[in-house]
Amino acid sequence: MYLVLICNSAFLEYVTMHGPFTLGSCLITLCLTGVGTLRIAAWHFRQRSPAPSLARLVRRLRGTIVTAFLVAAFLAAWSISLLMEPGSAARHYVPFFTALSTITCATCLIGVPLAAYAVIGAGTVPIALALLISGDATLLASGLNLLAITGLMVALVQRQHGQMRHMVAAHVATHDEKLRANELAYSDQLTGLPNRRAFIDALENLERRGHDRAVAVAMLDLDGFKAINDTLGHATGDALLAAVSRRLSDIVRPGDMLARLGGDEFALLMRHVEDLAAAKDRLCPFADAFEQPFAVGQKNLVVRTSIGVAHRQASGVAFVDLMHHSDLALYEAKALPSLRICAFEESMAERVRRRILIEQAAGADDGLPGLSVHFQPIVETASLRLTGFEALARWRHAELGEIMPAEFIAIAERHGTIDRFTQTLLHQALSEAATWPDDLRLSFNLSAAELVSPTICDSILSICRAHDYPPHRLAIEVTESALLNDIAAAGRMIEELRAAGLHVLLDDFGAGFASIGYLRHIRFDEIKLDGSLIRGIDHCPRARDLLVGVVHLCRSIGMPVTAEMVETEEQLELLRALGVNKLQGYLFGRPSGAPCVTGGTPEARSFA
Ligand code: C2E
Ligand code: CA
Ligand code: CA
Repeated sequence: MYLVLICNSAFLEYVTMHGPFTLGSCLITLCLTGVGTLRIAAWHFRQRSPAPSLARLVRRLRGTIVTAFLVAAFLAAWSISLLMEPGSAARHYVPFFTALSTITCATCLIGVPLAAYAVIGAGTVPIALALLISGDATLLASGLNLLAITGLMVALVQRQHGQMRHMVAAHVATHDEKLRANELAYSDQLTGLPNRRAFIDALENLERRGHDRAVAVAMLDLDGFKAINDTLGHATGDALLAAVSRRLSDIVRPGDMLARLGGDEFALLMRHVEDLAAAKDRLCPFADAFEQPFAVGQKNLVVRTSIGVAHRQASGVAFVDLMHHSDLALYEAKALPSLRICAFEESMAERVRRRILIEQAAGADDGLPGLSVHFQPIVETASLRLTGFEALARWRHAELGEIMPAEFIAIAERHGTIDRFTQTLLHQALSEAATWPDDLRLSFNLSAAELVSPTICDSILSICRAHDYPPHRLAIEVTESALLNDIAAAGRMIEELRAAGLHVLLDDFGAGFASIGYLRHIRFDEIKLDGSLIRGIDHCPRARDLLVGVVHLCRSIGMPVTAEMVETEEQLELLRALGVNKLQGYLFGRPSGAPCVTGGTPEARSFA
């Protein structure tokens, strides 16, 4: 556009060179050339600068409209002033050049319709009108021609503008669509929090930016959420998650990021946190937030959280690995209900790896291969006659090798697969015990989680029937921890088992604090003293005194007593002197595979 303006000015100057010199036309030509050149230079340099802001763009467009108006008005005024001089030679060509210039400008400004209309309105139309009233037939014809072209121009500008509006609207719609898709891809629909992808992106951004080491990542998940979801329904579960996310969002510091990774798992990215201790401090309000129940519909739901945290400085790993580390710490926190916030330590990785492998094997649908039962003899104290065996679970895991029950039973209890273990183990134990002489009894450990299961009694009885094994030859060992959860339900279940003819004994008596209280509420057939009460009685008077007190207590309420973990002759003599009824321990035999007890009289099966 400016080039055309400059060219037109140059042509004008060339034409006027042959006529009489007019200072006015010379100045105007110089002016137009100067403005045009400056604008071209400005446009050229602007190309290299970054895209301007919207406000600046609007300012520039306004400037364009005003400039266009002023230049066009200026050209029109010049042309009209020349037309007013009937004798001037310039009146025959200057209006022609200026009109041509205004049409060219309007065409170039077609993308800015207001500027194009300003040029037409302030330039082309007045010149055309001036030509019409000039009184010269040739100029009149030019004027008519110009008016026709002006009409065409206006139509063209309108059409072009319509098309452009359409294009811009389509572009904006696509852009909005993209933004929305992006938003959907990076945010969690239920809570509106950033999702896993956004969280990982944030960590990767930190990694790219380099050396910010004062960063910690925490994982939070809700204890008992699955039970709420299962019993109260998914809608309640969703509402609870939304309520939790609202409460947690209020605590998040500016600059930190809370995300929902999925299910009941939340992640927190903490910045400017010096070390693990500071990270744990910052997490305390998050743990405290669960002290108050969450109002969901008409209900007040109580949930707790477990939190695992890892610090960049302490872990010395990539940012994204912090997620894995805090996840391991979370796993550990969940295993220890008394621990709300657990910080990552190197040793956790191996423990958690074992736990995950055990859980996977426990949940697999292949009948728990490698699971077997060992039997440890139990003898009568006076005669050392064999009275039965305790079944003790063993598991040879394909990858981890031999695993002791203390490890896998606890994991299966938390993982909710304990019933599969119990059923498999009881089948194995009873198929062995069914081959023993009638006077021998099998002791079987029942896990805490199962004692409160309403179907456990029926399930045990049906396995007994399957092996044609009389229930009175089966003793169920329950520990104090089994009673802790729900003493009323446990008491009912124990009564049901006893009514069905089974023996029920309280195992590990003296290991906890509350056993004596339980003895008031629940009737057992026997008490088995915890091994810790036996350890050291042969050389430690205090240990001996304690044991004496506990045995007297049991005898005073008429309970037969068994002592486990008997390892030495001295222990045996002491226990015998105390009148303990039955004994179990390495002194009489370690747990081993199928014991050979067929045939012979009971006396022959004596350890004396
Ligand atoms: P528990 O019922 O108190 O079993 C006694 C534990 O002491 C057994 O450990 C046994 O091997 C060990 N032991 C026996 N005599 C001696 C001894 O003279 N000295 C020493 N130092 N230890 C002795 P184990 O087999 O590792 O079992 C540990 C616990 O795992 C058991 O404690 C029981 O609570 C649980 N458990 C074992 N098998 C099962 C099962 O089939 N089901 C369930 N639910 N729990 C089981
Ligand atoms: Ca036991
Ligand atoms: Ca025990």
